[in-house]
Amino acid sequence: MKIITPGEGETFDIELEENLLAKNRELAEANRRRLDEKGVRAFDVMGAIGAGKTSLIGALIAHLRGRRVGVLAGDLTTTIDADRLAERGAAAVVQINTGKECHLDANVVAKGLDEVLQQGVEIIFIENVGNLICPAEFPLGSHSRVVVVSVTEGPYTMRKHPYILREASVLAINKSDLAPMMKVDLEQLRRDALAVNPTLQVIATDCLNGEGIEQVAAALGL
Ligand code: MG
Ligand code: ZN
Repeated sequence: MKIITPGEGETFDIELEENLLAKNRELAEANRRRLDEKGVRAFDVMGAIGAGKTSLIGALIAHLRGRRVGVLAGDLTTTIDADRLAERGAAAVVQINTGKECHLDANVVAKGLDEVLQQGVEIIFIENVGNLICPAEFPLGSHSRVVVVSVTEGPYTMRKHPYILREASVLAINKSDLAPMMKVDLEQLRRDALAVNPTLQVIATDCLNGEGIEQVAAALGL
């Protein structure tokens, strides 16, 4: 079968992209320094649309009752996720609407931090825009990155999207209750993910029923 991939230097805006990524890394390091100075732990959550990022964060907030949790919720538009997370008991919520941008970057997160850090939070969850591709290239300054994948995305997600797993420390395989119906083998997904990043902590979750939430919190040191 014929496979076409762009060669070295053939990608249209490669130089522009390298400058952009270097700048983003600098800003991410500044975000991290700011969080560390305040003793705040931050986690960013990445995954496809509908994988369960908001549900996972909501369940974690409920599990962490009594702690002051802030959230930055990224989406192209709407405040649906921010509203849901405020309802779950987040102490401070900021909606970041990216317009046409398909990922959060460290610059927009810095602006969100201006807001939530004023509210005296001790933990921050950053929900990225639903996308398994470019968020991988844009570190935000968080202490750990979490990937959420749902079994409804099919059996090959981890093999098709290895890059998202490289910088992650936790993988939640969500909607695990639907695995038999979707004919998806949870153990195969786990093996595929570990083949990309053997240090990943892989946890099966059912966020709507609280399944696996305690394990995710423990994996994040919460
Ligand atoms: Mg969401
Ligand atoms: Zn993007």
